[in-house]
Amino acid sequence: MYHQPVLKNRRTLLERAEKFISEIYFTDCNLRGRLYGDACPLESISSSLSRQRIPFLEAVKQNFEPYQVGDTFGPTWWTCWFKVSLRIPDSWRGKQVHLSWESDGEAMVWRDEQPVQGLTKEGEKTSYILTECLKDDEPHSISLYVELACNSLFGAGQGSMIAAPDPDRKYSVQKAELVVFKSDVRELLTDLEMLVDMVKLLGEGEQRGYQALFTANEMVNLCEPTNPSSFPAARSLAQKFFSQRNGESQHTVHAMGHCHIDSAWLWPYEETIRKCARSWVTVIRLMEKNPHMVFTCSQAQQFDWVKSWYPGLFTQIQHFVKKGQFIPVGGTWVEMDGNLPSGESMVRQFLEGQRFFKKEFGNYCKEFWLPDTFGYSAQLPQLMQGSGITRFLTQKLSWNLVNTFPHNTFFWEGLDGSQVLTHFPPGNSYEMKGKVEDLVNTVKNNKDKGRANHSAALFGFGDGGGGPTQLMLDRLDRVQDTDGLPRVQMSSPDRLFSELEADSSLLCTWTGELFLELHNGTYTTQAQIKLGNRRCETLLHDVEVASSLALCLNKTFQYPSEPLQVLWRQLLLNQFHDVIPGTCIEMVVEDAMRYYQGIYQHYDIIRVYISTTILSRYISALLYYQGIYQHYYIIRVYISTTILSRYISDALDGAAVELFEDLGNQIFMFSPSTCFNGYGYNIGGVTEIQCWSHTLTHTHSENETVLSLSLCSREAISHGCSGNQFVLFDDVPLYWDAWDVMDYHLQTRKPVVEVVSPVQIASPGGLRGSVTFTLRISDKSTITQEIILDAMCPYVKFNTQVEWFESHKFLKVEFPVRVRSPNATYEIQFGHLQRPTHRNTSWDWARFEVWGHKWADLSEHGFGVSLLNDSKYGYSVHQNTMTLSLLRAPKSPDANADMGSHQFTYAVMPHTGTFQEASVIQWAYNLNNPLRLIDNAPGSHTVAWSAFSVSAAAVILETVKQVVSTPCCCFQPLNPLLIRPLLSCDLLERVDPSRPAPITASGISISFSPFQIVSLLLYLK
Ligand SMILES: [Zn+2]
Repeated sequence: MYHQPVLKNRRTLLERAEKFISEIYFTDCNLRGRLYGDACPLESISSSLSRQRIPFLEAVKQNFEPYQVGDTFGPTWWTCWFKVSLRIPDSWRGKQVHLSWESDGEAMVWRDEQPVQGLTKEGEKTSYILTECLKDDEPHSISLYVELACNSLFGAGQGSMIAAPDPDRKYSVQKAELVVFKSDVRELLTDLEMLVDMVKLLGEGEQRGYQALFTANEMVNLCEPTNPSSFPAARSLAQKFFSQRNGESQHTVHAMGHCHIDSAWLWPYEETIRKCARSWVTVIRLMEKNPHMVFTCSQAQQFDWVKSWYPGLFTQIQHFVKKGQFIPVGGTWVEMDGNLPSGESMVRQFLEGQRFFKKEFGNYCKEFWLPDTFGYSAQLPQLMQGSGITRFLTQKLSWNLVNTFPHNTFFWEGLDGSQVLTHFPPGNSYEMKGKVEDLVNTVKNNKDKGRANHSAALFGFGDGGGGPTQLMLDRLDRVQDTDGLPRVQMSSPDRLFSELEADSSLLCTWTGELFLELHNGTYTTQAQIKLGNRRCETLLHDVEVASSLALCLNKTFQYPSEPLQVLWRQLLLNQFHDVIPGTCIEMVVEDAMRYYQGIYQHYDIIRVYISTTILSRYISALLYYQGIYQHYYIIRVYISTTILSRYISDALDGAAVELFEDLGNQIFMFSPSTCFNGYGYNIGGVTEIQCWSHTLTHTHSENETVLSLSLCSREAISHGCSGNQFVLFDDVPLYWDAWDVMDYHLQTRKPVVEVVSPVQIASPGGLRGSVTFTLRISDKSTITQEIILDAMCPYVKFNTQVEWFESHKFLKVEFPVRVRSPNATYEIQFGHLQRPTHRNTSWDWARFEVWGHKWADLSEHGFGVSLLNDSKYGYSVHQNTMTLSLLRAPKSPDANADMGSHQFTYAVMPHTGTFQEASVIQWAYNLNNPLRLIDNAPGSHTVAWSAFSVSAAAVILETVKQVVSTPCCCFQPLNPLLIRPLLSCDLLERVDPSRPAPITASGISISFSPFQIVSLLLYLK
């Protein structure tokens, strides 16, 4: 063929090639227009609508009515089942035949009663391959079912993706027919697409881009779309180009199929089960066709769902796991939020996850996998190491709004010094498409050039599921070693990390948390979920301690292992990274609250069981405390006068008892008198209480803020300022409504000053003094608060009730304190860390809203103030103002988020010395783990008994539980009921003989390094 040897116009050549493969332009004559050949209608199609998500065998028994393509059905969250009968024309012999299916909702094809493939338009899956090459002896008449969920890949947001779902949306099937698919056209299209992308992405500065341009142009010259015999010559040009190799030093991209499936987000948990099945069965089909394909898959919970609901598919997955193609990763029960779950919750994420992976697939995961969480606790490296994991993959810090994180491959060092090799795929995505752009970005963005020459590229539609496609695999296959692009190999996490480990001498280390400079509203949004989480964490903790004690006291006691595992798994599920952060739709919030309610109810059942079978014989009839610390409690019990005398006589030795009239019931307050140092109140304008040798004075202003809070005559509130100052901010983020609070909200601060009910005395004094008042936030919202001062208690407690009906507002409470320090301390999982109180650098001011757990502290030499809470996670300490974030009011994806009544408690605790010397950590447990009351049988004998004591105040005895693997072993010291040997173990409860824990006459002797988590196994007699 003759053509001009020199063409100098880059733009016309590039656009010519683009138009040749365009889906929009010139499809009448270009190559794209030839992708499909003949079409033929289905023989019949009928449908049956169901409100519920029902199993296949139930669905096929429903009544099916004839369906016309284009007819609408719905509404949102319903399911439409289709029965499809088709006949492939005999004349299509030798052709590849697809069922072409385009619909609004996500679909699953069922054949011979088995799920066979997902169909999702947004996931570029609109074809089910009926035959690769039609033969005479294969069935031409086929019956299929299509299960169509009335929701899209990203739910049903009204107007935008993250808007609240439209409950009335209608759905339709736009196309359902048989078509001939021309794979030779597809191959050529893919060649040209890759070449065109190389031209565009390598740019005018790279000669390789011009080579791609002229190759593509020559292919267009050679290729006649209507004449397939012209294709091979064009293809061979492409193959020649793609086989021109790289030099030895080229970067290697480890491509891995992936499908990020949010366990709930813009759709409920129940839909996620089907999303997993749709996505994974499609992966299995791809693996059958592409034996080299590797797919990484996390979240034990999702595997467990598929095992229960799609056992046939699960068996196929197990088969491909054995072959090394389907690779379970992550080691956790779900991909949890990386900030808010407690230390023990994090441990359980790994324990439940790793146990599941080991049991079902034969191995523990070696990599922790959390690509999409809103920040990563500094405690995670130690928790990973304790769970058999030394490697970590994420990428979310690429979302930072202010600072660019300086590494992609590095050692991450946690709070205790534990290190894990960490990789952020430099393409900054967990849902790549195998395109040239992904590969170029992977090399270009790598911030560890020269240090690390291997990177991951995760490809496949994600978030709502979907996963990889054949096209993505075809793209990557072409450029395994093509000059101008990095090398690409289908790989696994193990291969990637092994390569990185083998050449890690130049890698840098990042110490401390991986803080995400975005989504900082997630510490506060959906306060009821946060409260439910904290409450359930303490309930499960308490019930495990009590059950362990009961087991120690009586071997016939049935430790409630199975119900506890079920409850823990529900709690862990709710810690998923769009549920506990509060970034889910209202349906998910309702599901989450149901799980919490279930935990509360089960707790009551288990508690009664424990108390009636065991504890009442040993522990005080009045109360038992399953926490760790022998502090002083003032509690309130409503009981009748007839049984009051028995409670008094049964109370622990030396108890101080006072009686008060209140609301027609007797209020009974209690404290161990041996530790009791006297008290005195003066409630009204000034409230005063003596606490040990200290005096805490608490003065109100006209606005019911706290003007003065003094300890040992040292004033804690900053001069001229008010403590307990409620403040309201405008809270309108840029896009991610439930997620984000932006820095500019701080400029809209408005104090809440309008008093509805001024201070009244609620408890006049004695062991407890308290006052109440009500403030107006707006014409819709109010705050009612009871400020409580208890004898022997070093903090002032604020029991708070808010009626909250705002829109895009943020409520916080401030304590400007008389303390100066460049750093504040925040509790995290099994430890604490410091963050600056100034805003010197961009890294400092980007942390204008941070997370912490039960307490935060601001201390200078000899004095400090701590802010404690029972269900909050959002803090900021700027200069000397300590702020606790209370409530937000975002409108998407849940239009009713946080509307209604809220009850929560926080406390302020001035102290002398350091926060450690003042036992702030222990007092925060005290606030969160209240004494729990058990009714006792009349006349039963009780014995006061303490199971534990820890000699060092720096050591927190956090968890006592029965091990999950071998029944009748108990975890953590239970002196004197144990027998030897006593052994150390890791967080997966695997014995570590290298770490003995010798028993001495005075107890068990263990040495700790800072922030070290130690687990002990002990065997009961
Ligand atoms: Zn996610």
